[in-house]
Amino acid sequence: MATEEFLPFSRPSISREAIAEVVACLESGWITTGPRVKKFEDELKRYFGAPHALALSSATAGLHLALLALELKPGDEVITTPMTFAATLNTIVLAGGKPVLVDVEPDTYNMDVSQLEGAITKHTRAIVPVHFAGLPVDLDPLYALAAKHGLRVIEDAAHAIGTEYQGKRIGAFGDTQVFSFHPNKNMTTGEGGCVVTRDDKLAETIALLRFHGMDREAWNRFGKTGSQHYEIVLPGLKYNMMDLQAALGLHQLPALEGFIQRRTQLAQRYQKLLAGWPQWTLPGAPGYPHRHAWHLYTPLINPQAAGMDRDAFMTGMKERNIGTGLHYRAAHLYPYYREHFGFKPGDFSNAETISDRIVSLPLFPAMTEADQDRAIAAMASVFGRRA
Ligand SMILES: *Cc1c(COP(=O)(O)O)cnc(C)c1O
Repeated sequence: MATEEFLPFSRPSISREAIAEVVACLESGWITTGPRVKKFEDELKRYFGAPHALALSSATAGLHLALLALELKPGDEVITTPMTFAATLNTIVLAGGKPVLVDVEPDTYNMDVSQLEGAITKHTRAIVPVHFAGLPVDLDPLYALAAKHGLRVIEDAAHAIGTEYQGKRIGAFGDTQVFSFHPNKNMTTGEGGCVVTRDDKLAETIALLRFHGMDREAWNRFGKTGSQHYEIVLPGLKYNMMDLQAALGLHQLPALEGFIQRRTQLAQRYQKLLAGWPQWTLPGAPGYPHRHAWHLYTPLINPQAAGMDRDAFMTGMKERNIGTGLHYRAAHLYPYYREHFGFKPGDFSNAETISDRIVSLPLFPAMTEADQDRAIAAMASVFGRRA
């Protein structure tokens, strides 16, 4: 039926310069962790105004290492929300913690911080807030509770590079933040991520754990200045970023501001063009000062008014050559979490309502207004309404 090419829900913007840098890296003879990762980390530190930025193979690796560094003991609890990617809960479990969940707000999909204190017990060790779609969680009251109860805060900032809360950039203040450079995220290194922290000890532990637990930055041990010997001081993992990945990152970071501005224009245009459609409940904004990084544009379908559920809508869009995404189904209802932690339907009603109705519409920097109009026309056709 549709003759136009498929419009994906997301697509990375990779410049000619970035491609040339990858080629230069390949030709240099050094493709794994090396000088380009070092330079990328220096630029991340400058971007965040933070003393430590550790480049890694993914944000999942970052969450895993930041949580491992807390040395959780059996029974220790870590609080997050069900409205997140599975990696947030999975890494809590892999680090030896018990995930404890707080429901989200119905309009921002972020942790309802007013319910946080009720979830804190004598076993709680850390809070992992998720800045959903690039909208910041209400961090002032969250950090106040963390200070009151002596808890660590590891922010899942996978969506939030460029996000600001109360005039401050996420990553520029607080405890520890984990960013993702997956191709769908606001900037990419292929796969990749980083941990930003102001805690010297945590940074040191993560630097060890990301590369086998070797006692020095061993990446150059085959080079002229490196030593042949190393010691293993911890049983570490293999979560280092490659120079090939950093080659992309070195060109994505300077482009990030432009990417976010374009995402913002498109998201605001969706908000304007879809306002008043009974088929949608559009994303809401919190009252505190913030900057949304618009990693995702995620309205909720109103199945009654739409005459269909979210999955039927997604299928209808696909038939019209428009990609959509599903971020996310409520994590507590996955079989593993039900079986091991006793979660069940009804536990977190806001997250479950969102889970059933949420859909990610196409949004990426290279998307044109014509692309967006096409997506909206397809939507109107799926709903059987005039655009
Ligand atoms: C993408 C994502 C992650 C994992 O990021 P990767 O870099 O793909 O490992 C973690 N948390 C959230 C909320 C995400 O969206």
